[in-house]
Amino acid sequence: MSSNFPLSHERLEDLARQFPTPFYIYDEAAIRENMAQFSEAFKIFPKFTEHFAVKACPNPYILKILADCGCGADCSSLPELMLCEVSGITGEKIIFTSNETPAAEFVFAFEHGAIINLDDITHIDFLRDSLGGKFPELICFRYNPGPLKEGNAIIGKPEEAKYGLTREQIFEAYKKARDYGAKRFGLHTMVASNELNPEYFVDTAKILFELAIELKKNLGIKIEFLDLGGGIGIPYRPEQKKVPLDCVAKKIRALYDEMIVPAGLDGLEIKWECGRPITGPYGWLVTRTIHEKNIYRNYIGVDASMADLMRPGMYGAYHEVTVSGKEAAEKNRVYDIVGSLCENCDKFAVQRELPKIDIGDLLVIHDAGAHGRAMGFNYNGKLRCGEILLRPDGSFKEIRRRETVEDYFATLDLDGVKNFK
Ligand SMILES: *Cc1c(COP(=O)(O)O)cnc(C)c1O
Repeated sequence: MSSNFPLSHERLEDLARQFPTPFYIYDEAAIRENMAQFSEAFKIFPKFTEHFAVKACPNPYILKILADCGCGADCSSLPELMLCEVSGITGEKIIFTSNETPAAEFVFAFEHGAIINLDDITHIDFLRDSLGGKFPELICFRYNPGPLKEGNAIIGKPEEAKYGLTREQIFEAYKKARDYGAKRFGLHTMVASNELNPEYFVDTAKILFELAIELKKNLGIKIEFLDLGGGIGIPYRPEQKKVPLDCVAKKIRALYDEMIVPAGLDGLEIKWECGRPITGPYGWLVTRTIHEKNIYRNYIGVDASMADLMRPGMYGAYHEVTVSGKEAAEKNRVYDIVGSLCENCDKFAVQRELPKIDIGDLLVIHDAGAHGRAMGFNYNGKLRCGEILLRPDGSFKEIRRRETVEDYFATLDLDGVKNFK
């Protein structure tokens, strides 16, 4: 568990009277403080930008807070680009790292001045055709190092991943983009997800540094930014440790001085497009116990389901669970904490040691601020929960209302079906 829940039991009960459970709550002060630390670690580079991965927490209030902290955004779809627009994140503050991209999305990204990051060599022509023969002045390519780099469980081995260009293709791609009129260039890679080993990111930087140097030597192409992608993990489990970002930054800076400066590439900007470490530890799913059943195992049934938070069901991911008001109580029970979906994987915790839970108890599911509400879905007719922001002054703001039955039916023609035979 990587961050403490900010509300006392009494305040949480008050809040749950005002906004019935389940709901997400985010701690604005903690997000700001964390972002300040992130930026502090990387300000040792001549230029540094964190482009928050919108998919992790696509709420415009959160995006506005992050923009105020100096962040840009990383988008991969038209609605994400539009969310940035309403949140005041514009132009090159946006990197459009998409894959299997429809033409209309490239057009929107180009017209709004976003940095376009191409996922394949064939997308060079696809992009130019989409833009009616125009080509962006600034272009970036996503590199897939293949067997040069080991991946991890969520993203898989790079050579089995669908993303990016091979080493051979990369050189051809920059040449072709330059022939089409590109004058400014970036280089991107993302080969891991939820990785906690700091050395992993130093290695990734080294691979990109080597490639940037080769691109200059072989093609005379001067890369102006390196985007190290996302993938910085958070300590979901109590025994895990936060990635020491200041240490990662210093080690990357040492390599930068050793490799980038002598190669005449000084001034190169370092970018990240992290989502998880930015908001993950500062968002919680709050749900109330509505049933208890004792069969071969003891089950606690709650009013949230996998439709609100799918990580445990989808990847068997661990999320710390605490019982509000019983934080100090002895953990002398073993429960499966389950939601109401007709899928047996709808379990927030499996065989978890917890204090005795009573019906009506509020449970707090930790580290849900990234890839939480965002991954929600409507299977089984489940209505997704809302989101609340705890402001630095201690007040609450509802930043997304809960879904209603009307939302669920909005894409159906209910009058039409009455006359349908
Ligand atoms: C998902 C994703 C990210 C963010 O990953 P986190 O693990 O949330 O930091 C960044 N870039 C790309 C291309 C992604 O697909």
